[in-house]
Amino acid sequence: MKTHIVLLGPPGSGKDTQGKILSCKLGIPLISSGEALRTEIENGSEIGLEFEKLIARGALVPDEVMFEFFTTILSRYNLSEGFVLNGFPRTLKQAEFLSGYLKEVDCDVNCAIYINVPDTEIIKRICDRLLCGNCGAVYNAYLNPPKNDSICDRCGAPLQRREDDEEQVVLKRLEVYHNETAPLIEFYKLAGVLFEVDGVGDIGSVTQRLLEVIND
Ligand code: AMP
Repeated sequence: MKTHIVLLGPPGSGKDTQGKILSCKLGIPLISSGEALRTEIENGSEIGLEFEKLIARGALVPDEVMFEFFTTILSRYNLSEGFVLNGFPRTLKQAEFLSGYLKEVDCDVNCAIYINVPDTEIIKRICDRLLCGNCGAVYNAYLNPPKNDSICDRCGAPLQRREDDEEQVVLKRLEVYHNETAPLIEFYKLAGVLFEVDGVGDIGSVTQRLLEVIND
């Protein structure tokens, strides 16, 4: 079983949802850069305010800032025991940084999974996305709708939309993804650890495809 996993794919390809499921099933931590940034924003720190402005317009946090911030996050985990990374790396520089960081703790990425979902499907999905601000559950009006339109099935808290899920911002995030993040597919292919999975279909089917790759 492969346990040093990076999830790649455009925003809305299911990395959050699948990352949570994989983390539970495999018993390894999910480390999500987007979640970590949003937590920092909620904490109301000065740097959080900067993150908020960048995220709201669909831009990336600059690499150097991200290295410092994410090193603190990574240092909380025993990475050699396994991880599912979601949202980091997002640029070639970040991928190189991650390789160097992992080398220091005597491990490496052994499975980078590219969840392939076409842009047309992404726009449909993200614009219908709902999140629970309390427990973090993710819903989609057509893929996995909540039982009640505005209430979380799991904890009963009100559901919200992400500020950066507005269509104009989604288009910007997709553009950034194609320019900055898609080249990582080639990076991990060259490293011999790239696996591609079709991300279209219901959540359970995509999980099955991911597990086949991980368990192979
Ligand atoms: P996500 O939840 O992964 O979709 O991330 C939401 C937003 O956080 C992105 O659109 C970026 O603005 C920012 N972000 C998340 N991860 C990174 C990263 N590795 N590098 C730079 N910005 C990031």
